[in-house]
Amino acid sequence: MAPRYDNFIAGEWVPGDGLTPNINPSDTSDIVGEFAAGTAEQVADAVRAAREAFPTWSQSPIQQRFDILDAVGNQIIQRAEELARLLAREEGKPIGEALGEVKRAAQLFKFFAGEAVRNTGELVDSVRPGLQVEMTHEPLGVIGVITPWNFPIAIPAWKLAPALAYGNTVVLKPSEVAPACAWELVNMLDRAGLPAGVVNLVMGSGSVVGDALVRADGVDAVSFTGSVATGRHVAEICARSGKRVQTEMGGKNPLVVLDDADLGIAVEAAINGAYYSTGQRCTASSRLVVTEKIHDRFVEALTRRLAELRVGDALDPATQIGPVVDQRQLDKDLHYLTLARQEGGRVIGGERLTLDKDGYYLSPALVLDTDNSMKVNQEEIFGPVATVIKVADYDEALATVNDTSFGLSAGICSSSLKYVTHFKRHAQAGLVMVNAPTAGVDYHVSFGGRKASSYGYREQGRAAREFFTLHKTTYIFAG
Ligand code: NDP
Repeated sequence: MAPRYDNFIAGEWVPGDGLTPNINPSDTSDIVGEFAAGTAEQVADAVRAAREAFPTWSQSPIQQRFDILDAVGNQIIQRAEELARLLAREEGKPIGEALGEVKRAAQLFKFFAGEAVRNTGELVDSVRPGLQVEMTHEPLGVIGVITPWNFPIAIPAWKLAPALAYGNTVVLKPSEVAPACAWELVNMLDRAGLPAGVVNLVMGSGSVVGDALVRADGVDAVSFTGSVATGRHVAEICARSGKRVQTEMGGKNPLVVLDDADLGIAVEAAINGAYYSTGQRCTASSRLVVTEKIHDRFVEALTRRLAELRVGDALDPATQIGPVVDQRQLDKDLHYLTLARQEGGRVIGGERLTLDKDGYYLSPALVLDTDNSMKVNQEEIFGPVATVIKVADYDEALATVNDTSFGLSAGICSSSLKYVTHFKRHAQAGLVMVNAPTAGVDYHVSFGGRKASSYGYREQGRAAREFFTLHKTTYIFAG
């Protein structure tokens, strides 16, 4: 029988109103677990618990916060193999990539353990005689955290760790599609000695649990990652009630390949950026913008590499491309491939695969002969699908890069200092990658996009403090 996972409210594990199965996308006969379906009342209980815990936790010694976050980092490392298997089973991420994501979660907890004891302020001379000015960062309050399924341990980690480090309390609502790793994180925080009510977990659907959390009066701020439509809806509700909000949303990330690019580097950047994690990354290289003279060589080499990629069970170490996360996402991917053909694109790959296990397998797809106005180039697909857009030169490439409503990550493969320098300055994106995939980021630097991709504050690195704290400016008259 599949294990049962309860919600965590005020330091107690409590059942929800029914259970939702978490299904392994590599093998739909494998039920990872049965997860509590939370209710609006449970959200209210969790928010109350977080409010009650806030006065003590916000004044807690920074050494206590360091010790708890560091201990969770250690627990993750000790359990890395087991957690990676869980992640691979619930999300379909190939085991090697899943292990990388688990280790990233540990690094995030350890980094923010350090940040808890580095929350320095500034002491400034006043322009008025006898006065001194202090600028400090104080805990913000109760944070509602809403996370998607595509990084089921790293995204909860990069929101929970800074929230707690800076003295906030939290109610977490992970994606119903993949809540197991988030459950494990909360369990580890509990075992590391986090006081009751400081972190609460309410699993369940976005329309019930997510909605109640965003609307709750006792929530001071909401940190969200997911789709543009939901993110904008969440931001609107937060704005109406004066809640601070950060929303990280989609992308339609271009990778430019110029005539002077190193072909090997460009092809590997495209393979990694477009297809790893089954293309289910907000930073995925979904538009390959290629100049004329290298176009045919690039397409030929990329097509050859594509055919070598091994699609299979995420738990098989030989697998390079795992399944799509669920039937809904698979239908969406197939819909866009049909649309691509209707719009005049030529699709290589993109076939529904039947393997020995019943899973949501799709071979990686490359859509040739596209132009940037096509829907496949304007809307986020979120699957193993990349398009090629042939352009005359760098100027047309840059115009194509910026001709999108998104602005998360933009990459360029070139050996020209002139073009790379110009691109760094003029690509309208929060992240710029040079001779590297558009996906794949560090944890100690800021993360976020522009335009429809992100709204509000940056995440991760030292930048995370801006969202999770309140500024205070204090004037002291010393005589
Ligand atoms: P959603 O935006 O629907 O979900 C993200 C999170 O928000 C989930 O926890 C979800 O809950 C929750 N949610 C849904 N509705 C509400 C609501 N009304 N109020 C508050 N919270 C809510 O993304 P999906 O997971 O459905 O994925 C759909 C598409 O979003 C993908 O195909 C992709 O294009 C994009 N996406 C982008 C991501 C990114 O990192 N940029 C990550 C994931 C998705 P639940 O799912 O449990 O119902």
